[in-house]
Amino acid sequence: MNITGEMLIGQSSVRGAEGTLRAINPATNEKIGPDFRVGGAAEVDRACTLAQQAFDIYRETTPQQRAEFLEEIANGILALGPALIERAAQESGLPTARLEGERGRTVGQLRLFATVVRAGNHLSATLDSALPDRTPPRSDLRLRKIAIGPVAVFGASNFPLAFSVAGGDTAAAFAAGCPVVVKTHNAHPGTSELVGRVIQQAVATCKMPEGVFSLIIGNGNEVGHALVSHPAIKAVGFTGSRQGGLALMRAAAQRREPIPVYAEMSSINPMFLLPHALAARASQIGSAFVDSLTMGVGQFCTNPGLVIGLAGEHLSQFQEAASHALQAKAAGTMLTPGIHSAYVTGVERMSAVAGVTTLGQGLPAGAPCAAQATLFATDAATFLATGQLEDEIFGPSSLIVACQNEEEMRAVAEHLAGQLTATLQLDNEDHALARKLLPTLERKAGRILVNGYPTGVEVSYAMVHGGPFPATSDSRSTSVGASAIDRFLRPVCYQDFPADLLPTAVQDGNPLGLTRLMDGNLIKL
Ligand code: NAP
Repeated sequence: MNITGEMLIGQSSVRGAEGTLRAINPATNEKIGPDFRVGGAAEVDRACTLAQQAFDIYRETTPQQRAEFLEEIANGILALGPALIERAAQESGLPTARLEGERGRTVGQLRLFATVVRAGNHLSATLDSALPDRTPPRSDLRLRKIAIGPVAVFGASNFPLAFSVAGGDTAAAFAAGCPVVVKTHNAHPGTSELVGRVIQQAVATCKMPEGVFSLIIGNGNEVGHALVSHPAIKAVGFTGSRQGGLALMRAAAQRREPIPVYAEMSSINPMFLLPHALAARASQIGSAFVDSLTMGVGQFCTNPGLVIGLAGEHLSQFQEAASHALQAKAAGTMLTPGIHSAYVTGVERMSAVAGVTTLGQGLPAGAPCAAQATLFATDAATFLATGQLEDEIFGPSSLIVACQNEEEMRAVAEHLAGQLTATLQLDNEDHALARKLLPTLERKAGRILVNGYPTGVEVSYAMVHGGPFPATSDSRSTSVGASAIDRFLRPVCYQDFPADLLPTAVQDGNPLGLTRLMDGNLIKL
């Protein structure tokens, strides 16, 4: 499949007239062809209008039709073969093996959502029988969830496949019954076009209305803003910087009709080293932690950027093991020159903070956009007094905080802002302290791990990849896993409807074979 540099608006390929941009290979800092033609407000309007026209038809496609559409996209991505992986590697600097794994995850999540749609539990079909003899009488009430409307998706730079054009947000929105308009991430426009063309073809093959999918090329400030402000758009999915997420939230709130923005932004993913676990295996935890910290050049949103332990001999052992392991870690290529320079600035800023020491570093960087991993240390008093130590440094950098006692450890936990994850390293004898920390950590994080490392997010039914601000803009939802579909649904209640006007999900006789809540009991009737 050729990369043409065109936008995909419904079934058309459109050359933008607002300038050009090129991808950059971060390993060499060289530009990669072809030129991508940037669009503007006219293309955004065309894509959103088509999405609006498609909405009522697409949202009422059968579960089987929608599941087949998702599976067609998954198959099309696999059919692109090595060309997709090669282009994504050039544009992101990510190794081939990592991208192949990410492709598997992308295809897996599309297939998971096909299963979710077929099962139909996302519809939350609920029936309350009429009670005509009650005083006052109760009406016949039936609830189902419907798709929220066309969704704008802003892909992430750090997952050019799994969190981009056909990534988690798009898969969840399609599964819910929402058309999607994607703004390409300019770090991987070629990868975006390849995947976008697969979706465009799947729309045609599955005979979906053409406005179900469009792909717009452009800059966030213009095209991104126009997209979020367009009246046809009813929700936004975003993964990226806090600054970008906040800008989109502001744009969404300023609309005549404000809309929800599901932005995943920044998290430093604290890891608590409880004393008995630390005494038993400080060195082992130290080196495993460094593997997690440096995986993917630290460019995971769940990267462990903060470690909290009790000062003393065992924390020193942990620090020594971690510093030693870090010394052997090569400097890896970061995703973009911008992300690399933000990392270098963040590390410089952290090393200049009074009370923070540089504990260890990885091998020096010898190539453009290569990041030298860095480990910092401080004490709890400095951490609690210095707000900037909580800022995310996107990349392989982490800060170890030494606490004088358990109370100080709990004070650090209480001080933290919202996080995607919190991790406890613990042994049986640590359970009493864990019980004291858990109520705080539940308030702070979307996922709490025991004796693991936060990088690596399973795409499954129970996964939560979310958390209170600034981890995300809406702590009530997840952007990974089956429940991500809920962000793009809303409930509608049908009161005293004649049988032939009721939607299938809540009709008598349960034609879809759903498990439904009937007068308070979950049954398949
Ligand atoms: P980004 O700068 O936030 O950009 C993400 C997407 O949002 C891009 O398509 C961008 O478009 C758009 N955008 C940004 N600001 C916007 C605005 N004001 N209005 C409308 N659209 C806007 O993120 P990034 O380039 O991927 O990475 C930069 C930083 O984000 C990293 O250094 C890191 O701190 C953070 N990051 C965090 C995560 C995470 O999971 N927590 C993941 C990736 C990145 P344009 O590029 O065209 O402006």
